[in-house]
Amino acid sequence: MSMPDAMPLPGVGEELKQAKEIEDAEKYSFMATVTKAPKKQIQFADDMQEFTKFPTKTGRRSLSRSISQSSTDSYSSAASYTDSSDDEVSPREKQQTNSKGSSNFCVKNIKQAEFGRREIEIAEQDMSALISLRKRAQGEKPLAGAKIVGCTHITAQTAVLIETLCALGAQCRWSACNIYSTQNEVAAALAEAGVAVFAWKGESEDDFWWCIDRCVNLDGWQANMILDDGGDLTHWVYKKYPNVFKKIRGIVEESVTGVHRLYQLSKAGKLCVPAMNVNDSVTKQKFDNLYCCRESILDGLKRTTDVMFGGKQVVVCGYGEVGKGCCAALKALGAIVYITEIDPICALQACMDGFRVVKLNEVIRQVDVVITCTGNKNVVTREHLDRMKNSCIVCNMGHSNTEIDVTSLRTPELTWERVRSQVDHVIWPDGKRVVLLAEGRLLNLSCSTVPTFVLSITATTQALALIELYNAPEGRYKQDVYLLPKKMDEYVASLHLPSFDAHLTELTDDQAKYLGLNKNGPFKPNYYR
Ligand code: NAD
Repeated sequence: MSMPDAMPLPGVGEELKQAKEIEDAEKYSFMATVTKAPKKQIQFADDMQEFTKFPTKTGRRSLSRSISQSSTDSYSSAASYTDSSDDEVSPREKQQTNSKGSSNFCVKNIKQAEFGRREIEIAEQDMSALISLRKRAQGEKPLAGAKIVGCTHITAQTAVLIETLCALGAQCRWSACNIYSTQNEVAAALAEAGVAVFAWKGESEDDFWWCIDRCVNLDGWQANMILDDGGDLTHWVYKKYPNVFKKIRGIVEESVTGVHRLYQLSKAGKLCVPAMNVNDSVTKQKFDNLYCCRESILDGLKRTTDVMFGGKQVVVCGYGEVGKGCCAALKALGAIVYITEIDPICALQACMDGFRVVKLNEVIRQVDVVITCTGNKNVVTREHLDRMKNSCIVCNMGHSNTEIDVTSLRTPELTWERVRSQVDHVIWPDGKRVVLLAEGRLLNLSCSTVPTFVLSITATTQALALIELYNAPEGRYKQDVYLLPKKMDEYVASLHLPSFDAHLTELTDDQAKYLGLNKNGPFKPNYYR
């Protein structure tokens, strides 16, 4: 495909090889051996042997409680606007066709397509880089012949990505990576446009796997690319249809969880195709995690509680990218922010940024808001919850609903009162109330919208990773997990600069020589974060 005016398309294969080599070098370096990061527990969903044909309402609810962690994490960008209560009939029981007579989809209500189209058009306005990639590459169709099976959140922003992939020549079949995150109207718009989409908000576990299965298992159509967010789709294909991997040219994975799974497969020698780790791209981690959370934490809290932040005492657990974003926003509104950390480096950063670093126990009685951002489990325990003051707000911004021990609150002496959508008051026998948001799931993605622009950055990275893997000559990538090279990150960033009318300074020949750089980049080493 022809590449951007701003920057030539990097020599991707070489760059990726280099990235892999650096990654390997890091893996075996002295530091890597002494700083053993705790392995994250990956939970695969059990295989569903048979699908329930028409799950009952009760069945749907109870199943949804036992779904795999990554799948239950709520990510409902604009989900609060989604009408999930239009009827109680499972989409699996409905016969629906789009205006062209196709019924190759399963969504809540195809009649919402027009509304969904408007949502997609609104998202497109702030995803100009992705649209510009679409326009630049459209003529060459770099994904012609690609049959992409995808499993991501189905929101207006991901719809722009899916339609970009289609415009670049791909055929797509799509399911949702989260049972709560689908914008029903957007799924309807995609179905109306001819995308085989199988997703609705409020799926049961049985529905969840059924939808994935419908995407993969089809006579006369076999996927040759996977785009996954969380690893459930990849896992399903491995367990149920391993032969599909004979045709798969590559997997692109966005999430921390999915990437962990891929590295586990790779370590066990079971990864049989190349995979691209988009999660660890600078353009994902340093943008989505930081800026998305900086902008959406306040939105999620405001919409659910109408809380005033000035003078409030807030404790943020974890000062990584997400924690940094949350703290910056809270501080700017005049909140008094405390941090808890396990890592001395992040703790020191918090100190240097002007925050008090404390143990949760030291402040738990006095704080008004508790926010977890660690990616860890049991950070807020029942003991902490018992000691909180009346009206303390508790919420989570991490990926999984494991950070707050919500299960410990489901005991007979405590009363739960649903006061608003996604807002529960948990009431102690003495009348104390703790305000629990989104049942401990991702606050911003459950209770507010997320900024479209930042998702454009992630989506562009995903699209480029797919193009590269699909077009790579035989042998460029082995059966391993690859990082996107710095030059690709720089390219994605460069595509987004025109939105700000940002004018990049060009190195002179002399300066380039002095710094030992190519004038066209990469400008930083691959390990730069
Ligand atoms: P990170 O690794 O940069 O930061 C996590 C921090 O938590 C680390 O500094 C770690 O030392 C600290 N930590 C771990 N256990 C702790 C404990 N018990 N107490 C206190 N601190 C502890 O990760 P990140 O990029 O900030 O992401 C954090 C989580 O947020 C992940 O689960 C990620 O998937 C998720 N995430 C959420 C969003 C969103 O929109 N809400 C966006 C991106 C990522």
